Amino acid sequence: YDEMARTSEKLTMVSKLAAGVAHEIRNPMTAVKGFIQLLKVSKEYNEEYSEIMIAEIERIEVIIEEFLTLAKSKKETAYKPKQLCRILQHVALLLNTHASYRDCQITTDLTAVDAWIYCEENALKQVFINVIQNAIESMTRGTVHISLKTEGSLAVVEITDEGCGMEESVLQKIGEPFFSTKETGTGLGLMISYKIIEQHKGKMTFTSKIGVGTKVKITLPIVLNCEKES
Ligand code: ADP
Ligand code: MG
Repeated sequence: YDEMARTSEKLTMVSKLAAGVAHEIRNPMTAVKGFIQLLKVSKEYNEEYSEIMIAEIERIEVIIEEFLTLAKSKKETAYKPKQLCRILQHVALLLNTHASYRDCQITTDLTAVDAWIYCEENALKQVFINVIQNAIESMTRGTVHISLKTEGSLAVVEITDEGCGMEESVLQKIGEPFFSTKETGTGLGLMISYKIIEQHKGKMTFTSKIGVGTKVKITLPIVLNCEKES
């Protein structure tokens, strides 16, 4: 019996991991597919789209790499100083088409160029993609606003939507693995996001009002001047 219980536990682990991999890979795949469709329609080569598609495919490679090494010893992830506004700009551009398909627009206020943070860029991008994706999915139309400010030694990102909002009972459950109110949701996005933000010594908090919208606040420590590279 013990042996069987252990085998079934292992199988549960494997299927959870598989669901995680599928979720993480679906976003960049959707993006690449979208840009290929755009190229097909325009019948013209587009440098910017190509750059994004390469970056997204590289992200898939990194994700696969990460899951493959997950079982092995905890690998030393490459944290590098990065300008947060550039990461956010990239993500906003990436999700623009996706948003407009759903009658939504993304607006940004990313003037805080001095907000440099230590990060694993791909992981952090995944967080912003997950959060903005949720914002878009919560609306039938409207605006997702992304702002970046600094408050002392913290970079503060706020992602505000005009969506359906969340009830208190939902607010308390978000981030639990597989908690989703969506028909096709995996309920893994926020769990992974919380974990990544925690690894970056940051915080993520939600405020929400039914029928008004949701604000996600993410704070991350800013790196010291002397530590910046490029
Ligand atoms: P999924 O998107 O697959 O459902 P997530 O972990 O990304 O999983 O989100 C979990 C749940 O949190 C969602 O199903 C939804 O109910 C709620 N949620 C997250 N972000 C928002 C938002 N911006 N507006 C309304 N509800 C949200
Ligand atoms: Mg989600």
